[in-house]
Amino acid sequence: MNFRRTITLFPLIFIALFGALIVGPRAARTQQEQAPQKKQQTPTIDEYQPKSTLVTKEHKIERAKFPFIDIHSHHWNPTTEEVDRLVKEMDTINLRVMVNLSGGTGERLKNTVAAMKGRYPDRFVVFANMSYDDLNTPRFGKRVAARLEEDVRNGAQGLKIFKDFGMELKYANGQRVHVDDPEFDAVFEKCAELKLPVLIHVAEPAAFFDPWDYHNERWEELKEFPGRARPPAKYPPFETLMAERNHLFAKHPRTNFIAAHLAFHGNDLERLGKLFDANPNVYVDIAAVLAELGRQPYSAHDFLVKYQNRVLMGKDIYDVNEYKWYFRALETRDEYFEYYRKRHAFWRIYGFQVPDKVLKKVYYKNALKLLPGIDAKAFPE
Ligand SMILES: [Zn+2]
Repeated sequence: MNFRRTITLFPLIFIALFGALIVGPRAARTQQEQAPQKKQQTPTIDEYQPKSTLVTKEHKIERAKFPFIDIHSHHWNPTTEEVDRLVKEMDTINLRVMVNLSGGTGERLKNTVAAMKGRYPDRFVVFANMSYDDLNTPRFGKRVAARLEEDVRNGAQGLKIFKDFGMELKYANGQRVHVDDPEFDAVFEKCAELKLPVLIHVAEPAAFFDPWDYHNERWEELKEFPGRARPPAKYPPFETLMAERNHLFAKHPRTNFIAAHLAFHGNDLERLGKLFDANPNVYVDIAAVLAELGRQPYSAHDFLVKYQNRVLMGKDIYDVNEYKWYFRALETRDEYFEYYRKRHAFWRIYGFQVPDKVLKKVYYKNALKLLPGIDAKAFPE
């Protein structure tokens, strides 16, 4: 009886001992790895960072296929050292001409032109901005037009209008300055006369005007920057701003407008197409809205082919390391790759590779047409 029991128990003890030796450390390790997840069974949207297992062709493009013009960049009061560094960085990615939209007006404009164009006349373009200091003094618009003329004499090659116009800017009586306010007609007519393009930022992504709830596509960005929300109590509705903007474009048909950020219709390219069809004087840049195109590669490709004369390359916030996403999206058919700014897009993007003929227009030909005074010889035919 005793003997039989010893025989039966021996393998069991053996298995238990060795089993503990083999399984023990692994079980402990797995428990450790899972520790943070145990606290919370369902990860929050910030915690959930799935790693893609997709294996597919990748083309990391560090340098644009053709020299290009960045129509949408900001450099406030650049020093000569900064400008030297900029040019070196621009050369590494084939960025031939940088358009600084933040030139200001008056003395500041002069200084910015001197720092940038004074030393590298072929590498920079500076846009002027309006000053609203005397907004409440009669004949404001005429004075802005006169100042702009002076700024052009001092080297400005375009006018940039920032997003406060139409949203935050108010008269002393509290009335909002509408995007199509007749007071500014003199300014836009002056731009037509001087052949100055107007790069204008109207409104914001439509989602910023919507409630910050679980259905909002820009939930993460609004969490990070609550001040970007445009609640109806404080701001005009998105559609009001679009209507005013479209009226502005229509009433100055001789003025060329570049609507920043795909005119905030990157999520509705058909609507943008209609805007183009109705207004031959309207162009757009793709600055900071690449994720909109990258999530609809077929539509983006067809749109760019159809409206190849109306779309311009731009980046917005300058970082030499972030342009490569634009190159990869425009030049390859890479699939499902991560975007460079998570708050703009929780989704991954796809390349929509356009033909070289279209690429050249987006990279530089359209900008060359709109911007007088750039040396076209630096660009291929
Ligand atoms: Zn900008």
